[in-house]
Amino acid sequence: MLRKFQNGGGRKMTKNSHMKKYYQGFGRMVFLGLVAVLIAIPGILRSMAGELVNPFSTEGNWYKAALHVHTKTSDGDTNILARIKQYRDLGFHVVAVTDHWKTNNIDGMSDKDFLVIRAMEAHPKSNHEMTNHFVCLNLPEGFEITKSTKAQKIINMVNEAGGGVIYAHPYWLAHTINDLTSVKGYMGIEVYNGVCDIMIDKGYGNVHWDQLLNKGLIVPAVATDDIHKSKNIGLGWTMIKARELNTNEIINALKTGCYYASCGPVIEDFKIENGVASIKCSPVTQICFGAQTAIGRKFCAEDGKLLTTAEWKMTKKCRFVRAEVVDENGKHAWTNPIIPK
Ligand SMILES: [Zn+2]
Ligand SMILES: [Zn+2]
Repeated sequence: MLRKFQNGGGRKMTKNSHMKKYYQGFGRMVFLGLVAVLIAIPGILRSMAGELVNPFSTEGNWYKAALHVHTKTSDGDTNILARIKQYRDLGFHVVAVTDHWKTNNIDGMSDKDFLVIRAMEAHPKSNHEMTNHFVCLNLPEGFEITKSTKAQKIINMVNEAGGGVIYAHPYWLAHTINDLTSVKGYMGIEVYNGVCDIMIDKGYGNVHWDQLLNKGLIVPAVATDDIHKSKNIGLGWTMIKARELNTNEIINALKTGCYYASCGPVIEDFKIENGVASIKCSPVTQICFGAQTAIGRKFCAEDGKLLTTAEWKMTKKCRFVRAEVVDENGKHAWTNPIIPK
């Protein structure tokens, strides 16, 4: 938080040398303070990011994850075993079962090729009395929260238990930046929620995400199905880079943003080198690099052609850059932001 300086505005200047010295000293202090803040900005951003890790410059394997999944334990249309089979048959490696207010018994459901994470979706009221939906991942057995537990308390409890919280479908619930900043400590936000998209066209959280990034709150973003009905499987997923398929590695990758989100396109590389951001991906019709406020650039394929790469020379003012691609079917994919060194 920036502290407001009292400058005695409105007071008449005086010839008194003592006062002159006072004002000179004060001016110097403000100047040095501003220099210190400017020098510190990259560090501040990085510390808020919790040191994001670029999955494209990290060793490991890619794991396809469904991080927001309902079953008959709450209001889904099938039981947990059938739901897990559906995702496994579609080539997923990770499923977090996130029934409303309830965890599931997941004993014996994971093996070396497939990981089930114990999780829950909680709906606490925020400080602004707006209901938040928190996807709470990696909860210990017997973890309980009551419906009256406050939003911030839930995030703290999940973090203390070794888990992490994703801020779900911000557009669908008409959240504002005030809601998003009224709590802290969540590890990510949904940039895409499949059910909110197909049911009411409010599945995209990119504006909410950009508002956080603009404020220097560098959080990564996932894409999810939020599946309730079996027919709505595979709308959006998260590609996680991790050394091994186990809960600790996957949660650590989620907390450090070591992943990208997709509804279709595959992202093969994303990096900054010598002030140039570049991306490689499956064939798409457009690639957009975005930084804070109005800084960024969109590249569109010429008629009848598709793009698989793009480069953008960043301006020196860029505090971060993220990329978003859209394929011929209108399906998006999103990288997490990188902060220039
Ligand atoms: Zn929800
Ligand atoms: Zn849900």
